[in-house]
Order: sequence, then C-alpha cells, then structure tokens
Amino acid sequence: MLGTMQEWPLLAHKILDHAAAQHPNRPVVSRSVEGPIHRTTYGAMHLRARKVAQGLEAHGIKLGDRIGTLAWNTWRHMEVWYGLLGLGAIYHTVNPRLFPDQVAWIINDAEDRLLFIDLTFVPLIEGIMDKLPTVEQVIVLTDAEHMPKDTKLRGAVAYEDWIAARDGNFTWHEFPENTAAGMCYTSGTTGNPKGVVYSHRSNVLHAFQAAMPDMLNLSARDTVMPVVPLFHANGWSLAFSAPMTGAALVMPGAKLDGASIHELLETEKVTITAAVPTVWLMLLQHLEKTFGRISTLKRVIIGGAACPRAVTQAFQETYGVEVAHAWGMTEMSPLGTICSPKPETAGLTGDARLDLQQKQGFPPFGVEMKIVDDEDKTLPCDGKIFGRLKVRGPAVAAAYFKGEGASNFDADGWFDTGDVATIDGYGYMQITDRAKDVIKSGGEWISSIDLENLAIGHPDVAEAAVIGIVHPKWDERPLLIVVAKPGRDPSREDILNFMAGKIAKWWMPDDVVFVEGIPHTATGKIQKTTLRDQFKHYRFET
Ligand code: AMP
Repeated sequence: MLGTMQEWPLLAHKILDHAAAQHPNRPVVSRSVEGPIHRTTYGAMHLRARKVAQGLEAHGIKLGDRIGTLAWNTWRHMEVWYGLLGLGAIYHTVNPRLFPDQVAWIINDAEDRLLFIDLTFVPLIEGIMDKLPTVEQVIVLTDAEHMPKDTKLRGAVAYEDWIAARDGNFTWHEFPENTAAGMCYTSGTTGNPKGVVYSHRSNVLHAFQAAMPDMLNLSARDTVMPVVPLFHANGWSLAFSAPMTGAALVMPGAKLDGASIHELLETEKVTITAAVPTVWLMLLQHLEKTFGRISTLKRVIIGGAACPRAVTQAFQETYGVEVAHAWGMTEMSPLGTICSPKPETAGLTGDARLDLQQKQGFPPFGVEMKIVDDEDKTLPCDGKIFGRLKVRGPAVAAAYFKGEGASNFDADGWFDTGDVATIDGYGYMQITDRAKDVIKSGGEWISSIDLENLAIGHPDVAEAAVIGIVHPKWDERPLLIVVAKPGRDPSREDILNFMAGKIAKWWMPDDVVFVEGIPHTATGKIQKTTLRDQFKHYRFET
C-alpha cells in the first residue's frame, strides 16, 4: 500500500520560491566585485533569477546542459544558480584558484556551454579562451559601465544588459527530483579532478540537514555570511540552507582578508559565518593587530581542514564566539559532521571542552558513518582505534561524473572518504589524517593533524605542517615545518619543548625546519604533495 500524501518533488529552486513568499524583504548584502556594497532581497532575487532562466532559454539552454561559473559570493552568482536550477540546467562552479590548464580541463570535461564570470577572472578566461571549444558565450557578471573593452571573450556581454531585456514572467520547468542540479570537481591532489553531480533532491535534503540546530543552526533571525566560496564544495549548502530558513545573507565578494571580513561582520551584524581555518587565522591576526572586537557574531563554522585548537580558543575565550568544527567533502554535498554538544558533553569547560572541539563531531540524520580496517572489517568506536572512514546517505555521491574513481564506492553503497578517523563512544568522529598523509612509524600511525594543531598553539608559530620523512629504522618519522609569526624568531628547541609532554614521546617530530611560507591547494588545504616533493631529499641525522 502506498501513502496517500502528495507528490511534491524536492526541487532546489523551490527554496527561493519559499524565501520570496515568506521572507521577501530579508536582505542579501554583497560586497560587489566593482567595489560598493550592494543591497537586495530574496523577493528581488526571485524575479531576477527568473530573468536569468528566460535568458538561458532564449539562448537554447536545455535540461541537463552544464553552465560554468567562475565567481565570488555575490547576489548575482546566486541568481545565476537559481535561474539555472529552475530551467533544469546544471550550475557548474569552477574553482578559479586552480591553474589555468586545470580550469580549461574541468570546463572541457563538463562540456560547459556558457560561462558566467566575475570581472576578476576575465584575464584568466581570455588566456584559455582558445582551449574552450564547448563554450558558446561568456557573460560577465557586471554592468555595461564596468565591461572590459576589446575583450577576447567569446560573445562577451554584461550580465545586467543580458537580463535587462527580460521581464521575469517565467514559470519554472517541471522535472523529477533526481534531475542533476549542480556540479563541483574535487580538488584531488593526484590524477585529474573528478566531477561530483548533485541532484535537486540531494541539495534539498542536504539543506534540511545543514540547517538543523546541531548542524549550522540557522533561523530567520540569523544573518549568515558564507565566506566559504560557492565554488568550494557546493558552498557548504549556504545558498540553499540560508534562504530555506529565511536567514539574511551577507556575501563577501572578492575580499576575504581579515580587515574586509571584520568590517562586514560588524557593519552587517552577522550572527553566523563559515570558512576554512586559513581565513580565520587571517581574521584573528587582524584583530590582534588592531585590537578589534567582534560584537554580534554568535557562531563560526570552521571546516575544510582541521581547525587548530588555538583558533577555537581565541574565538571562544578572547572574542566570545562559539566555534563549530565541521567536516565534510565535495562528495557529501558537503557537510558530514559538526562538533555540537550532546547532553553528555554539554557540561565540559576549559581544556576538556577544547579537547572535544578538536573532534569533527557527529553526523545529522541522513549521514551514516563507520571506520574500517584494510580488510574492510568494521572497527570499534572507542575513540582510539584509527580506521578508514566510510559514509553513505541521500546526499553522498554514488559515483563520479563519467564513471571515474569507481573503486571509491563499494557494493553496499558505502563511499570511502580517503580519511582516517576515530569514532568515540558518544559518536564523535575525529579525523586523524588523509589516508595518504598519515605517518607510518614502526608499524604504528602518527596523526600529522594532531602534531600541526599542537605546534600552532605555540605563540610564535603562524602556520605548521607535518610530513613523513623516510627513516631507515622506523619507515617514516615526522618532520615539522613551521612558518614563524612576523617579527618572531622561535628556535627548534622552543617549539619541541612546547610540544613535549602533550603527546606520546614517539609522536614527537624528529626535527623542525623553518620556512617563509607553506603551499596551499585551491581550497585552502596544506599542499602536502608539494611539501613532500620539496623535502624529498631531506634526511634526519641518525
Ligand atoms: P573538499 O572536498 O575539498 O572539501 O575536501 C574534503 C577533505 O577535506 C576531507 O576528506 C578531509 O580530508 C578534509 N577536511 C575537511 N574538513 C576537515 C576537518 N574539519 N578536519 C580535517 N580535515 C578536514
């Protein structure tokens, strides 16, 4: 027997319909790429998204066509997403921080028909235009006044001119909820990037999960600033979960430095924000230098890489802002876990609370998790044993675009995240490493993340990375690579003494080297492959 309830396909553009119906005047404030602050509302964006859909339809864009965006977080970028969704076309966010050849490779793999790009990325696309045969036209997200002259962009047109001719009198198309909605390539450090294709259903279910109290905890009384770009792992769902709940949005555009972020937090009275740890390190350094304060922010979501303990401590103890450590992946839409208190842990204070917050937390309904050994046998959840982390759920990828990377998915529907983790008795997961970054010393594993987090707690350390160095006796031993804070000059012994006693003796780095900077990937993670290459001839004195 079937239930007798209505068929109401979970289509992602219905989220903007809801925001426009229930929260039409809620502000969406952006720092425009041209410079000035721009103010609009969900109601006004709803109309302009339908103009986008009309423009796309007039161009001949159809169900299932991929359309690339190279754009910062602004109202225009979001309108383009919703216009595409309502037509059944697919938003494909391209990470503009990748090398030009990788950008071209990704656009060609997706076979993008149009590109919507910010002014910032005009030179990037001009440089590879000849290598993009599938791209029929480039729409620049600006107005006529700011349009570049004599550009080499194919069919270049200013977005504001492109939608000006439309009246917005457009009815969203109808299609099943499993229809593809969006695409994002993983920032894989080996081999070619792999495309993850979200469906309308997965985006909607994921937005419900993300908004829940123990996840992002969003409501119509919040003002949310997604500093994490829409092109990083589906924008952590915020383009969906914020309008779904009616939270106001503050979009930081191209300026992600500490001063610009601090300014928007304060002037726009932001209550919740989200980004990778490097962004927060920049903000905290800015606040330290300027004796700045944070007045309205309640909660900062930190994920994409392990959040250093010192960052959590500074936010909570110096600035009175609660930290929510989050873990996820492009393949998971992307949120997997958030470290929120359960009744058993809610009473923790001081160091015990900070210890808990080093963990990435527990999943919402709709994300199943387990750790397994090399034979795929499920391991116990005792908070100590490390294993490969596997996940499944309705917003987790079941395959990659064009069937790439099939070995990451098993017959029972589990996806191998490539992360190594522990899960404790309360269900809190902690990432100890990427499977390929874990340091194998004498048959035991050392977590490079734990060592990095500890080292960064030293007051003179700006950033730290740990890699395994080949060792004749132990296979591998940890090398600590440190960037000192400007004007500070810590010694090797200072740092080792600081770490001693806080970890097992055999986890202590065998040496410390000081460098000017540590390389990062396009999504803000430490680029361990480059570091391993840089230090491939390094040997410890024995
Ligand atoms: P991406 O798909 O670019 O978001 O990268 C996902 C990967 O980032 C995960 O598989 C983890 O290795 C890493 N990651 C994300 N969040 C965290 C976190 N809070 N702590 C440690 N690693 C993380």
